[in-house]
Amino acid sequence: MNHRLRRHATGWLAAGAAIAALSLPASGQAVKGTQTGAKAGTVQPAAHHWAIVLHGGAGVIERSSMTPQAEAAYRAGLRHAIETGGAVLDKGGTAVDAIEAAIRTLEDNPLFNAGKGAVFAADGTIQMDAAIMDGATMKAGAVADVQHTKNPISAAKLVMEKSPYVLLVGKGADAFAAQQGLQQEPQSYFFTERRWQALLRELQREHLPIPPRPEGAPPAPTQPLAFLETPDNHKYGTVGMVALDKYGNIAAGTSTGGLTAKRWNRVGDSPLIGAGTYASNQSCAVSATGIGEYFIRYTVARTICALVQYKGMKLQAAADEVVQRQLVAVHGDGGVIAISPDGQMAWSFNTPGMFRARLAQGGAPQIAIYKDEP
Ligand code: ASP
Repeated sequence: MNHRLRRHATGWLAAGAAIAALSLPASGQAVKGTQTGAKAGTVQPAAHHWAIVLHGGAGVIERSSMTPQAEAAYRAGLRHAIETGGAVLDKGGTAVDAIEAAIRTLEDNPLFNAGKGAVFAADGTIQMDAAIMDGATMKAGAVADVQHTKNPISAAKLVMEKSPYVLLVGKGADAFAAQQGLQQEPQSYFFTERRWQALLRELQREHLPIPPRPEGAPPAPTQPLAFLETPDNHKYGTVGMVALDKYGNIAAGTSTGGLTAKRWNRVGDSPLIGAGTYASNQSCAVSATGIGEYFIRYTVARTICALVQYKGMKLQAAADEVVQRQLVAVHGDGGVIAISPDGQMAWSFNTPGMFRARLAQGGAPQIAIYKDEP
């Protein structure tokens, strides 16, 4: 990836009055709620204020490369996702349930690089990765290189809840998801013309062979593509969410198609616990987006949480330390979103833009794309 690296000012996610008024316990002291919230179980849930931060990918996202219609469509997708997650939390759902619900909307939205709309690998297939981690239990589940599971985030959640494992890959991961009752789709379901054209451009640039147009894909367009199909304005577009629920528990989830024209069944950081996804009530929850290889080698998500846990750093400072200093030093393009059990929310990215949104109980959703937005 040859993007020019441009630093940007990170924004404090000033939590505002809603967060300032929180009566959250100190980090690591949160109580575990139940799947059905206040009504079920014997645990008496504490009255915490919930909060969410989500991302829809970082990259070279600039006003000059976005039409007003495209921008409005992205903002609407982010708003729908954050409102979906917020509704789950508001009803007493867990952070894990909210993350699954919100990420499913982004996986079903062809604008984002996850589920339908995922980018193509060099061989013309769609290979998706996802992970989820529950900060209350330190349980995690992940899938990599799934090719038929409509909602990989749900497969990751079922790996966490219904298998003794953390990470399943390839055919086995799809088979597990199918066995658990998750909807399976042919590869053509995930096809979008925009991603196909992006693959062709990338393969030409890298002088790699062009695979045949996928079976079941609509016929190649004869007219110039519509506004949403033309700009190659971001290469990444992974989706992720971190949440704090009413019980004071945090969780993180990430879902992606990986990088355009990836080869040899490459797997990125998103499904790797500690790299692209991590959550612990002892510190924080993080979901990352960017060039996965850097996030793997620098164990970005866990490093941020370790800085919070062992150095006592504030969440924003910890995220900036890794994203703006460590990653920038090695040209590791990308960004993160993060949340802590005491209600701190943060985002930090070293690319020109990152699709992102946040919402705290009682507040209004804040949705942003470009680096000059708060
Ligand atoms: N981090 C993802 C990967 O490397 C890509 C992205 O964030 O868009 O697979």
